[in-house]
Amino acid sequence: MSTALGMLLRLPWRDLMAWRPPRLRFEGDEEARFMAASQLPRLRHFMSSGLVALVAFNLFLLSDWMMVPDRFEQALRLRLLVFTPVALFFLVVCWQWQSLLLRLPAVFIEAVAMLAGVAAALCLVSVLLVTDSPYAGMYRCGLLPILVYGTLVQRFRFAFALMFSISMLVLHLVTVFFSVGRPSPYPELEVPMLLVLLVVMFYTLIMNYRMELEERRRFQQKERAAELRERLQASQARLKALSRQDALTGVPNRRRFDEVAATQWQRHQQTGERLAMLLIDVDHFKAFNDRHGHPAGDQCLRLVAQALQACLAPTEGILARWGGEEFIVLLPHTDDVVARRLGERLCDAVRALALRHGASPTGEVVTISVGVALARPIMARQDLASLVAQADAALYQAKREGRDRCLLGGA
Ligand code: GH3
Ligand code: MG
Ligand code: MG
Repeated sequence: MSTALGMLLRLPWRDLMAWRPPRLRFEGDEEARFMAASQLPRLRHFMSSGLVALVAFNLFLLSDWMMVPDRFEQALRLRLLVFTPVALFFLVVCWQWQSLLLRLPAVFIEAVAMLAGVAAALCLVSVLLVTDSPYAGMYRCGLLPILVYGTLVQRFRFAFALMFSISMLVLHLVTVFFSVGRPSPYPELEVPMLLVLLVVMFYTLIMNYRMELEERRRFQQKERAAELRERLQASQARLKALSRQDALTGVPNRRRFDEVAATQWQRHQQTGERLAMLLIDVDHFKAFNDRHGHPAGDQCLRLVAQALQACLAPTEGILARWGGEEFIVLLPHTDDVVARRLGERLCDAVRALALRHGASPTGEVVTISVGVALARPIMARQDLASLVAQADAALYQAKREGRDRCLLGGA
């Protein structure tokens, strides 16, 4: 006895007292998103389960006929001529005007569905209030399937399920109250039947609460998963972009260049569209490194890359780092005049940076040499590699002719 008391005292009473059931409401925007996301599936669920319930509701005509024969005609009229046509009318309206209903507050649909359940129960109650059948007490059990239907089949939101359950209890008590004094073969069943209603009410409400909680958790998980997927896609896109970017200068790297060049070369082959390639090399860069150090060399490459990039419009071909202190440009729709003019603009831009070289036999500032090659449709044996070789040869020639210039190869 004393050990049982000890165990009881050792229970974490403070925690138990502080426990609150999880709220059936999200914070801020999340609640609105949840309501908006669940509105269409709920409306459809209400319609389909409502239709099935309507059939079940009319099946109970059999109970009317057997248990309240004195009021069968009234029950028949209420079920088939009043409730069924009105319910069908509402279902058709819901079906036809779905988009309009979805614009109404979510509670509106919940309230209409709940009132439909209460109306079904009222059909039973109106018979119960006037019948003299000795089975009236048991006929009252018909409220139970309506209760289960509302809380577990239609799955009203918990607040509505609670209101619905309380209204079933009230209707039950009202019919009990009005049956006092009427003949009943089993008056002792009234209390157990009330208990059954209370217990079913309690269980179905707990289930209803849990189902809404689960639905909310599933919604949260789905939102988190979508958010994670988005973040993953964004980071994959970032990685892809990074893998195609030169780490030092930030311009596209050789891998990116190869992709773009392959596509453009294919188009050139198919359409004969003109294509120009410019190979760019920083003059006496080894000497620059030797004079200023490797970090200064890196910074020089960054500035040169920026200056080159600034000469090209974003949609105008591609500039990439070819390797070391060499860059490459591929320009579609470009003839020799335009290509040469661009080459000269590139030389001017780098010269205009005015980066003091200090160790170049050909100039005071850092300069570049550019070799240009043109892809000509008539040259059947030409390929991308031969175009590069041609640009390289032109670049070599530019170096030989004194650097800081642009030369067109194969002209
Ligand atoms: P030329 O005018 O004939 O092109 O002479 P050059 O000295 O520029 O040519 P060379 O090929 O002899 O030297 C290229 C130098 O570029 C050698 C290498 O150390 C330097 N280099 C290549 N990549 C980088 C880099 O990422 N950073 C730095 N700082 N230097 C680099
Ligand atoms: Mg070089
Ligand atoms: Mg060089």
